[in-house]
Amino acid sequence: MEGEAGSFAHLGLDARLLQATAELGWAKPTLIQEKAIPLALEGKDLLARAKTGSGKTGAYALPLLQHLLRGKASALVVEQAVRGLILVPTKELGQQVLQMLRQLTSYCSRDLHLVDISGQADLAAQRPILMEKPDVVVGTPSRVLAHLKAGSLSLQDSLEILVLDEADLLFSFGFEEDLKSLLCHLPKIYQSFLMSATFNADVEALKELVLHNPVTLKLQESQLPDSSKLSQFQIRCETEDDKFLLLYALLKLSLVKGKVILFVSTIDRCYRLKLFLEQFSIPACVLNSELPVQSRCHIISQFNRGFCDYIIATDEQDLGEKEGPARGKRKRKGNKAAKGKDQEYGVSRGIDFQNVSAVLNFDFPPSVESYIHRAGRTARADNPGTALTFVLPSEKAVLAEIEAALTGGGSDDTPLRPYLFRMEEIEGLRYRCRDAMRSVTKQAIKEARLREIKEELLNSEKLKTYFEDNPRDLDLLRHDKPLHPAIVKPHLRNVPAYLVPPTLRAVAQPLGSKRRRRKPLPPKTRGQRNPLRSFRCTKQRSGAKHRSAKHRTAAGTPGS
Ligand code: AMP
Repeated sequence: MEGEAGSFAHLGLDARLLQATAELGWAKPTLIQEKAIPLALEGKDLLARAKTGSGKTGAYALPLLQHLLRGKASALVVEQAVRGLILVPTKELGQQVLQMLRQLTSYCSRDLHLVDISGQADLAAQRPILMEKPDVVVGTPSRVLAHLKAGSLSLQDSLEILVLDEADLLFSFGFEEDLKSLLCHLPKIYQSFLMSATFNADVEALKELVLHNPVTLKLQESQLPDSSKLSQFQIRCETEDDKFLLLYALLKLSLVKGKVILFVSTIDRCYRLKLFLEQFSIPACVLNSELPVQSRCHIISQFNRGFCDYIIATDEQDLGEKEGPARGKRKRKGNKAAKGKDQEYGVSRGIDFQNVSAVLNFDFPPSVESYIHRAGRTARADNPGTALTFVLPSEKAVLAEIEAALTGGGSDDTPLRPYLFRMEEIEGLRYRCRDAMRSVTKQAIKEARLREIKEELLNSEKLKTYFEDNPRDLDLLRHDKPLHPAIVKPHLRNVPAYLVPPTLRAVAQPLGSKRRRRKPLPPKTRGQRNPLRSFRCTKQRSGAKHRSAKHRTAAGTPGS
C-alpha cells in the first residue's frame, strides 16, 4: 500500500475514490474509517459503534465501492447485478446516503449505478429502475421487502455486501418482521456491515441474524463532542409562557445567531411555534412526519444551503409512536396515533444538518438518547456549536438523568451549564409576547397544520415533476412562507429601542423589518459562525467568577 500512514491513499483505495475524497475535502480518514476500511477490505463482517458525524457513511461506503470497482475490473464479474444493499431506517437517511455515494463515485459514475428506493414513489414506478439491476440499492426494509416480494428485485444470487445503517433504529422502528422476511431472500454467504450509534438488545439480535464472526469496533468516542467544540447550556423557565418570551428575546435580539434547529415535542407544537414567530416576522420552516418526503428532503437541503435560518423540528420517530415523554417500541401497523404520519420519518438521527450553530431544545427532550441525538445536530465535523435546553420545574428529574449520563456519573461538574440570563430584564417584552400568543389559538394551529400539508403536497408534486425538468428553479420553492392564520401585526416586527434591556443594548441586534434574506453562500466559503459569539454569556462565565452576580448582565458582557 502506498501513501502516507493515516491517509486515504494508505488504505489502498481506487484512485477514482481517492480523487473524490480529496474533492470532498477529506484530508484523512476519521477514526472509524481508519479502523473499519482495512478490515472491510479484507472481507470481514463488521459491527461498528458509530454515530452520525463520525464519518460512518464513508466507513462502509468506501470499502463497498472499492469492492464493486475491483469486481468490475476483474474478469470474474461479467453480468450486471445488484451486489450491494444498504438498509436505512428513514427516507431522509436514504436520500442522504445516496447523495454521499454519488459524491464518492463522482469519478466513476459511469461504472457504478446507484439507486435509493426509500422514497414515496409507487412500487410500479420504481420497477423499471430496479430492472436495470443497479450495483447498489439503498432502501428501508419495508420497501426493499415489497420489491423482493413483487419480483422486481432479486438478491438471492447476486448480493455480496449488506449494510445496516443506524441498525439500532432498524429494529426499534418496527422493521423487525420485515427484516426477518427480507433475510430469507438473501444468499447464504455475503459480507455484512452493521453500523449502530448504540449497542443494545436489538443490535445484539440483529448481530445474530446477519453477522458471521464479526470484528467489533467499539471506538472510544464520547457520545457528544467535547466542551471545546460543543457548549451545552440549560435555562430554567418557570412557565410555558416564559419559554415563548425567552425564545422571542433570543431570536429577535439576535442573541442566538446563525442557523438554529428548534426541537419541539409534537406536530401541533411545531405549528404553534411557527405561528408565534410569524407574528414577529421571523420566518421558520417546520419539519415533521406529516409532510411529504420530497418536501422534507428539500427543506433539509435548502437549510443546508443557507436559504433559511430556522427549522422547527419534531423528533417523533425517536420518541416512539407516542408524542410526549412516554416511550416504547414503535409499532408501525394499526396504530391510530400514527395515522397520516410517515412511519419512516426521522430527523434527529442520522441526518447531516450542516453548519448548525445552535440546537435549541424548546421542549425538553424525553430521554437521554433523545438529548444526545438532538445536541449532535450541531458541532459537527470541525465546527463549534451550542445546545441550549429550556427546562421547566417539572423536568428537573429528567435533566438530572441526562446530566448523570453525560458525565458517566463520575464528575461533579454539570455538563449543561446554566445560561446566565435574567428573565426580569426582558419583562418589557412580555406584553408583546402575550399578544402574539393570544393569536395562536387551537383553531389557528389546526388550520395552519392543514394549510401546510396541502401546500406541501402541492410542492411535493412540483418537486416530483416540474423541478425534475427544471432543476434550476428548485431554489424558488420556499417552505418558510408565513401561514397567516392570524393577521400579523406589523408593529410586532420591530423591537423599539426602549424595550431592549439596557444591559443588552451593546450586544443585541434587533432583527428589523428591513432584514434582508441572507444570500446563500457557496458551500466552500460558508463557514460556521462561532456560536460562542452569539451566546455571550459563555464568555461572561469565565469572567463572571470575579464579579458579583448583581452585576451580571442578562445575556452576558456587552461587546465582549
Ligand atoms: P457521517 O457520520 O457519515 O454522517 O458524516 C458526517 C459528516 O462528516 C459528513 O458531512 C461527511 O461529509 C463528513 N466526513 C466524512 N468523512 C470525513 C473525513 N474523512 N474528513 C472530513 N469530513 C468527513
